[in-house]
Parts: sequence; structure tokens; C-alpha cells
Amino acid sequence: MSDSCPSTPVSAPGKAFLIGEYAVLEGAPALVTAIDVRAVAHRPTTPPLEPPSAVVRCAQERVALFLQGRGADPTDAQVVVETGGFTMGARKLGLGSSAAVAAAVIGFQLANAGLDPAEPTIRQQALDLAMAAHAEAQGGGGSGADVAAAVLGGTLHFQAGKAERITAPSWLHVGFVDAGAPADTSSFVRRVKKAAATEAERYRQAMGMLRDAATQFLHAYGRHDSPTGLLELIRQATARHNEGLRLLAQLSGTPIMPPSLETILTAAFEAGLAAKPSGAGGGDLVVVFAHERRQIEQFGERLLREHGFALLSDLRADADGLRSEQRTPTNSRLAGFFKLSVEARRQAVAAVTGLPESRLRDLDAGALDVHQANHMIENVVGTLELPLAIATNFQINGRDFLVPMCVEEASVVAAASNAARMIRAGGGFTAHSDPPWMIAQVQLLGDDRPGDTAEIAERILGQRNELLALADEAHPRLLQRGGGARDLEVRITDARMVVVHVLVDCRDAMGANLLNTVAETLAPRLEALTGWTAGLRILSNLADRRCAHVSARIPPEVLGGRGFDGSQVVDLVVSASRFAEVDPYRATTHNKGIMNGVDAVVLATGNDWRAMEASAHAYAARDGRYRPLAIWRRGEDGWLQGRMSLPAAVGVVGGATRVHPVCRLALEILHCRHAGELGQVMAAAGLASNLAALRALATEGIQRGHMSLHARSIALGVGASGPEVEWLAQRMIEVGEIKAERAASLLEELRHHAPTAEASERN
Ligand code: NAD
Repeated sequence: MSDSCPSTPVSAPGKAFLIGEYAVLEGAPALVTAIDVRAVAHRPTTPPLEPPSAVVRCAQERVALFLQGRGADPTDAQVVVETGGFTMGARKLGLGSSAAVAAAVIGFQLANAGLDPAEPTIRQQALDLAMAAHAEAQGGGGSGADVAAAVLGGTLHFQAGKAERITAPSWLHVGFVDAGAPADTSSFVRRVKKAAATEAERYRQAMGMLRDAATQFLHAYGRHDSPTGLLELIRQATARHNEGLRLLAQLSGTPIMPPSLETILTAAFEAGLAAKPSGAGGGDLVVVFAHERRQIEQFGERLLREHGFALLSDLRADADGLRSEQRTPTNSRLAGFFKLSVEARRQAVAAVTGLPESRLRDLDAGALDVHQANHMIENVVGTLELPLAIATNFQINGRDFLVPMCVEEASVVAAASNAARMIRAGGGFTAHSDPPWMIAQVQLLGDDRPGDTAEIAERILGQRNELLALADEAHPRLLQRGGGARDLEVRITDARMVVVHVLVDCRDAMGANLLNTVAETLAPRLEALTGWTAGLRILSNLADRRCAHVSARIPPEVLGGRGFDGSQVVDLVVSASRFAEVDPYRATTHNKGIMNGVDAVVLATGNDWRAMEASAHAYAARDGRYRPLAIWRRGEDGWLQGRMSLPAAVGVVGGATRVHPVCRLALEILHCRHAGELGQVMAAAGLASNLAALRALATEGIQRGHMSLHARSIALGVGASGPEVEWLAQRMIEVGEIKAERAASLLEELRHHAPTAEASERN
């Protein structure tokens, strides 16, 4: 392929074992599913800095030989593979990234040689090549199930090197919990194999248990008829699997089942779920099974609250295998972006995102025409323009994002980009989201007939399933998209009032209108059921079941400067955080700084910033006292650690997100996969803004940096234009007076006494 030819990125998914890991190495059956985190092979825009990894090299060699044999063009030597999705912050999850890399490279070369990897014979070729390349790079030893999942996708019955795609039963839902520590699969497997020789009898016993567990699991999994009793079989099979792993751990002296895993497994079984480690064990991922998605999500909520382990609600099983991608992964590290002209910045954004430059004309003034605006709200007389900027350097769970921010305040975007660069030096943001559950409220009033509220509550909860089904009837499309009513709660507020909460999974929408319909649909049935009168029927804007959780770790050396060493800055930021933790006056300002970043993304993407504000502040006061949303500590290694949970009732569909042309484009630039990820970006922008503010406040104070930007906006305000703006801002700083009156007189002076020559000299 010639270097000038455009190439299509090709991606391959990760994998997770549902059952049968370890035993598959001894010829037992296993069940493996493709997970929708993807390795993306593409041609880099600049030559890669690092040499290719062993797996990339082996894949390149195999596919080159194969294509040569078919007389095809030589392969593209420039391939790189992005695997950001496989990480939580700086930690790689055990989702089979190396198998996905082998598959993606081979898929990329085949596709770019004109062979479609979706075509069955080519797909089989890709599988054979990827199996061989991966085995060579890893020195053998693996089952190959991970490679099969990466190429074929879906859920696979895998045994003795043969993969067969099977349909996941509709009665079984799967979720993944992050147990918080990396696992070294190949060392575990090595130690277990070594123990097979020295502890032959106990090894056989453990393998027998793991094999039986897999067989029992597969027997239940293959049934698509009545689910009654089948989850119990799955529970028994996973319990047996866990017993087998404990024995393997014992006999090999390998930490396959550390306390973190045992805590999650115990909690899952107590909650009525089935659960087992996915993969080699050792603290990486736990897979949980339930009849209903809702049960998994409720378990996740409790697990996070009580034990601090996160359900990774973004991880979806049964993903596509090899597939072409529309665009190359984003690189948000655009050094010197701030120095470019507006036009050059647009070109840079177009180059990174692959969007045509002409699309960026949507960012010109007047993009929202007044006639469109007239359909959005009432009594329209015009539109209001605000600056839209791109914050750089953001990396969340290993993926880069160019973050659109719309804000009128100077220094917000620069501060967020700068802090994101520091956070990037520590591995970027780590983030996860609650499932997108929102709350619809129906107020029920006993009028002048106070009743037995506990009995009323019981009556409503007794009809839980019927009421949830009725709520789902209001939104059949939402159900098809995997959302829908999840649970019902009744709150007794006083003797004459109970409030019914319907929890609804809104998928990718903010959900206000969806929820209001649900509340209105249920109200008459609730009235009939209780004999009470329905009052208000509307969503709650306290989206505390739909938080984005984000954290960051920053090495001290990147925090220092301007007379402060990094370690000092860590202490100063922690002290600033403690100030906010004990004082609501400070906490309010602390949170305002966070909302600088959050709101700017909310606004840029057409989401409802009043809803976001209301929710954030109510959440900050959820225990009766107003607290900071983000807090900072010094880690044991001396690094600065920050974390924040932010209610994120935001959508990538609905409301103004797709109506306003600039918001539509902002979402395209951002390229979030779902609403949960958009919430994570907003939370990351908030945490970055907070870090920048605390660092500046705790050291030199914010005025210095802020004032030079503020001076520019004053200069614009008094009518300076072109080079005059910089000159005037600089003069105001020099004379120490950044005020409109002084700016006007300085401008007057400039225009009358030292015209353009001096101004242009300074630029
Ligand atoms: P919406 O009314 O536009 O509904 C979302 C639509 O998107 C639905 O029709 C749904 O079918 C569709 N959709 C397409 N793909 C989807 C997917 N993957 N997931 C989910 N839905 C999908 O928007 P909404 O989110 O229901 O409501 C948001 C709007 O409501 C905002 O404009 C907000 O300002 C406004 N609002 C807010 C409040 C409040 O916060 N108190 C009250 C009323 C209205």
C-alpha cells in the first residue's frame, strides 16, 4: 500500500471468560465473550516513537507472508494500535489486550489489502493468522480463546482450539466488577502448571472441580426455554469454580483468590447473584450473573457504597468482532494549540478527528439561525453567542478526548488544559459511571384523610412488577434500547404524604421528558391502588443514582514551579481541600471552580446546565451539610490524589444536543460512546479545574494568571481590536490597574499618540 493512500482503521474487541478458564488449558470447554473495549489498528499521522511490540511484530510478519502468497500489495509498515479502552486510569484490565492487538493488526492489513474481514473465509484466515502470531509472541501456553473472541466477536463455546458462536440466553444478564488490582495471568498460569507436576493429585482434584463447573454452567447456559431454576444452576457452577480456584491457589501458592475477590464474591452471593473471577483471578475482574440487569446494577450500587468496588457498567459483553472504524483514535496532546490562530486550531481539530474542515464552519458566528432558535423557545428575538474552545490533554481510562468548552470566563479553558496535562503525567483520569438511572416522582396526598402510610407503602410495593411494566409501556423504544423501569421505592414524608420513586434507566438521554411521561402514566394507577390523590408527577433533579466517579494521581514533580517544589504543592493542595471540607463558605467557592469546568462542557454539548447545577449542589449537601465535591490527599508514594463523584444527568441524544448545530459538532469532536462517558468527561473537566484553582490559590494566588486573561476581556470590552488587545492588556498589568475606565483612557492614548506601529511591534 502506498503511503499516501488513506487507510481504514480496524478494531478488535477484548474478551472475558464467563467460565472455564484454567480448565480450558486441560481440554475442558470454556465460555468466552467479546467485550466492547477495542484495540484500534491504524496508520499514525507521525512516525511512532516506540518500536512495535512483539505481538505487533509477529502479527505484521504473519500477515505480510500471507498477503505475499496471494500476490497482494505489501502491507503498511506504519501500523500502530491504540488500546486505551483496556485501562482504568494507568492500570490495564485483564481483558485480553494482546490478543485484540494481534487481531486488529491482521484485520487492518487484510482490510487495507482489499480483503473484507467480515467475509467468512477471510475471517477464518484472520483467526488462523492471529492465533499463530499471538502464540508466537507469547511463547505459547494460552488457550487461544481470547484471540477467537477478538476476531469473531459474540459469545463463544471454546474447546481444544475450536470456537463455536452461541446465542446468549435472554434470561441471563452479565456484569463486571473491578476488583482494583492488576493480575499477572502468565505468571499465575506458569506457577499453576509447575504445581501440576509436584502436587499431581490435588491438581487433578482442582481441575476436576473446574471442569465440572464449566460443564454444569454450559448446560444451563445453553437452555433458552424456561429460566426457572437455571440461575440456581449457574450459582452452583460458579461456587464450584470458586472452590476449584481456592484449591489451585493453595496448592500452587499463587494469590489467585485475594481478600478483595473474596469480599466481592461473598457480597454477590449474599445478594442472590452468581459470581466468579473472570480470568486468572488475582484481583482483576469479577463477573456476576443475574436474571435481571436491575439486580446487577443494584448490587453494584451497594458494593461501591459498602466496599468501594466499582461495577463497570460500561463493559458490554457479546461485542462485535473485527470491524472497520470511521475514525482514528483521538490524540488530545496538541502541544502549542493555544498559540495557533483560530483557523489553524480548526485545522488541527479537523486533522485529529478526521472531520472535514468544512464541518467546522458550523462554529462560525450565526451557526444557530434565528428561525431555528424560534422553534426552540418562545418569544425569540435573536441568539446569544458565547466563545467555544477546545481543552487539550484530557485522557480518561486510557482514551484521549478533545473537550469542547463553552464559557464566557477567561482562564477556565487554559487552567483545565494545563491541569489535564499534569494529570496525564500520572496516567490520566480513572473514571467509571453508575448506570444511567434517573428518578421519577409521584406525590400521593391523603388530603384530609391521614391514613396508615406504612400500609399504603406496602400496597404500592406489592404491585411493584405491575407498576414497572406499566412504566415500561410508556416507552417501548427505550426498552428496545436496553433501558426501562428498574425499581420502585416509596418514601413516607409525613402522615398525609407518600412519594413514589420510579427508577428508570434512560440509556443515552438525559431523560427529563422520558421520566415525566412515566410519572404521569403511573399516577392514575397509584391513585386507584391507594385511594389517595396524585399531586406532582415529575422527575427529581437530584440524580444521585447516576454519578460519574473520577479520580486522578499526579506525581509531585509536575506540580512544582514558581518558587514551590512539587512536594510542597501537594501539601498545600491537600490543606486547601481540608479547608473546603470543614467550611461551607470555602466549599461553595471550591465547588464553583469545579462547575467552571463541568458547566462549560454541559453547555457546549447542549445539555441542561440548570439541571446539572441543581443536582451537583444538592448532592454536595446530601448529608445535611454542604461539602466539597472533590477532595485531595497525599498518597503513600507522595503523589497527589484527587477524587470526585458528580451526578451526571446528561445525554448524547435528546434535548438540544442534536438540535443546535454547534452542540452537535461539539459532540462529534468529543466522540463519546455513550452518555455515561460524557458524564465522565464533565467530571474530569471539573476535577481538572479544581486542581488548577487549588494549585494556583495555594501557591502564587490566582490573580496573576487570571488577571492577564481578565485584562484581555476588559480590553475587548472597551473596543480594542486586533493587536490593540494584547497591547492594552499588557499596559493595564504594567500600570497595575485592570479596570474599564483606565483601559478606555489607555486605548484613547494609544490611538491618538502612538498608533498601530507600537501595537504591531508587540505582536
Ligand atoms: P427528549 O425528550 O428529547 O427524549 C429523548 C429522546 O431520545 C426520546 O425520544 C428517545 O426515544 C430518544 N433516544 C434516541 N436514542 C436514544 C438512546 N440511545 N437512549 C435513550 N433515548 C434515546 O429528551 P429527554 O432526555 O427526555 O429530556 C431532556 C430535555 O428535557 C432537556 O432539554 C431538558 O432541559 C428538558 N427538561 C428538563 C426538566 C428538568 O430538568 N426538571 C424538566 C422538563 C424538561
